[in-house]
Amino acid sequence: MYYFNNLFIFTLNYTDISTNRRLDCHCIMKYLCFIGFLFLLLQSCAQQTAHTVADAEGFPDSLKIVKSDEEWKKILPKEVYDVTRKEGTECAFTDKFKENKEVGIYCCFCCGLELFSSMDKFNSGTGWPSYFQVYKKQHVRMDRDTSLGMIRDEVSCARCDAHLGHVFTDGPKPTGLRFCINSVAMTFKKSER
Ligand SMILES: [Zn+2]
Repeated sequence: MYYFNNLFIFTLNYTDISTNRRLDCHCIMKYLCFIGFLFLLLQSCAQQTAHTVADAEGFPDSLKIVKSDEEWKKILPKEVYDVTRKEGTECAFTDKFKENKEVGIYCCFCCGLELFSSMDKFNSGTGWPSYFQVYKKQHVRMDRDTSLGMIRDEVSCARCDAHLGHVFTDGPKPTGLRFCINSVAMTFKKSER
């Protein structure tokens, strides 16, 4: 900050000096070079910040859980395998968490990653668990899904690629989003008080 303040003061002084004197070509060139340097410096800082934010949003490859289809089939109950590994959808109004009023976190059935908070759950009337935001942006991946003649955004676990459901833009405030999730794709971890 001290460095930028000095640069700013220097720019003002330089402007004063320049306007009080007759500007020759050499002086104008030096001034333009200085402005160009400042522009490049600020652009470089902005690019670095954007890059850092993008990195923070991605789930680290080294922490991902990768198994073959056969392995998932062996360890998952059939209804969970069909939804999470074959992009199935559980029947509406079969939500196993429908009566759950506990405070806690809904986690991925396949790998245990935290996905949604009970604080962000709402009754959408659709028959599937619905949330207006994810627990951590980094834990959930969203991809465009054009299957079944519809344009939807598929929601998956960022760590194990389990299909969870879809996200729509008709949710409540403050996000306006509705994460429509299959209950069989999740487990519930009660908060300890
Ligand atoms: Zn997972």
